[in-house]
Amino acid sequence: MLRRSASLPEKKYFKRILFTELEVKRRMGEMAVEIARDYRGKEMVIVGILKGSFMFFSDLVKLLYIHDIHPYIDFMILSSYGSSTTSSGKVKLDRDITTPLEGKWVLLVDDILDTGRTLSFAKFHLSRFNPMGVKTCVFLDKPSRRVVKIKADYRCFEIEDLFVVGYGLDWNNLFRDLPYVAVIDEKNLPPTNL
Ligand code: 5GP
Ligand code: MG
Repeated sequence: MLRRSASLPEKKYFKRILFTELEVKRRMGEMAVEIARDYRGKEMVIVGILKGSFMFFSDLVKLLYIHDIHPYIDFMILSSYGSSTTSSGKVKLDRDITTPLEGKWVLLVDDILDTGRTLSFAKFHLSRFNPMGVKTCVFLDKPSRRVVKIKADYRCFEIEDLFVVGYGLDWNNLFRDLPYVAVIDEKNLPPTNL
């Protein structure tokens, strides 16, 4: 079911829906075609940055399967110090990959490219395992917020400087389960024990 009721309780916390489930699916389908074309015939490792990329990552892997691309799967857990909507800029590796990367083509996947600190940290970290190459893939891109110079090789959507939730992206660990992307209403935030 793509359409869900407009009266779902979470909607009262949102200013607007930025991308519907259908828009996400369509765009993901296009991006998977591009990635499948570029990785065909190569030994591929796809690395997701948790937790934010989990839904995007999983949908992407299922689409690649349809295109007969079967990567090794791994994850890293990174955290950045700071509150829920801002970060201090320091990135910490909480869980590393275990897959050997030597001789393989890596696709690094994250939910959103904001300042660029997380993705550039992760890309540099993975490049030290001597892969054939490391490309980056993000669901959302906020180029206006960039502090570190980095461009994603693949991205689904470019967005303005808005704080968004859904499709893996959270506010205080809430709303990651939504199959769509919404802009949170800062004037009406949910109680944290929701
Ligand atoms: P960067 O290191 O590029 O500044 O930030 C990347 C991380 O910041 C993302 O993985 C994500 O966790 C968080 N982030 C940046 N912008 C947003 C946003 O609009 N919404 C949410 N939920 N998280 C964001
Ligand atoms: Mg995050």
